[in-house]
Amino acid sequence: MNISWTEIQQTRLKELAADDADLQSQFDGAAARDKAFQQLEKKLVKVERQKLQQLRDVHRRPRLCRLESRLTDILIQNDFVQVTTPTILSKGLLNKMSIDDTHPLTSQIFWLDKDKCLRPMLAPHLYFVLQDLLRIWEKPVRIFEIGSCFRKESHGARHSNEFTMLNLVEMGLAEETRQRRLEELAALVTQAAGVDDYIIQSESSAVYGETNDILDGRNRQELGSAAMGPHVLDRAWQITDAWVGIGFGLERLLMVAEGSQSLGKMGKSLAYLDGIRLNI
Ligand code: ATP
Ligand code: MG
Repeated sequence: MNISWTEIQQTRLKELAADDADLQSQFDGAAARDKAFQQLEKKLVKVERQKLQQLRDVHRRPRLCRLESRLTDILIQNDFVQVTTPTILSKGLLNKMSIDDTHPLTSQIFWLDKDKCLRPMLAPHLYFVLQDLLRIWEKPVRIFEIGSCFRKESHGARHSNEFTMLNLVEMGLAEETRQRRLEELAALVTQAAGVDDYIIQSESSAVYGETNDILDGRNRQELGSAAMGPHVLDRAWQITDAWVGIGFGLERLLMVAEGSQSLGKMGKSLAYLDGIRLNI
């Protein structure tokens, strides 16, 4: 008789970052399996404890925070200005993004009251501040924000209800340079994140119409979505300049850079610290 781990054992082993070979182990019977489980669990717990100690001794910051710092540094070095806008978004600004009550994204919004929600994206507030910055600063105006966004998702390994978005925008550049610029900026971010195998592919988006998605070269998982203007959404903000913008998910970038299967481990979590399970 050949049997594999029970579902509960599987889950625990995945939490403890067991590798594929261990996860696929087969056993002659339940007794042999349960004994093997105890031994393997003990071994993996020891490794996780060592990783936790290393975090304390060396970096002292989770990967997510370190990636945020690296991206901030590289963007500032490339003349982008960091902005920080509220996490709470008004319904009015959401509507300006064409997201009204009939829009597919509406069912994903966390409402705080009838006209305030947790931002599902950074773009509305970036548009808002750009209206003024375009008036005041010489072009091109380059800004970015990194912060939490919230969407109701049916839980999967690639989505979570709270995730960290980087959104960068360069506005007021020559229209014919947009595609090249988009590729340069995608390269800048992916390189800083340690992702070297990616492709850029045209996609249709519920908010922007056409987007250029940045996908993991191996499994085609979406890492970011880029859009260009002039765009129909710009009219609501009286913006007429040519622009490029990209929104990246930091947890997705980390997943790919670390070869992880679980977005939950990479993000803000009570169960994991820097991807390390805490109930060990
Ligand atoms: P997907 O198709 O993967 O659900 P999306 O196209 O709805 O993503 P965008 O609105 O383009 O997402 O957001 C920009 C980026 O933010 C995505 O490319 C992805 O990296 C990240 N992202 C979006 N939703 C989530 C989520 N629920 N959890 C983690 N990351 C997310
Ligand atoms: Mg997208």
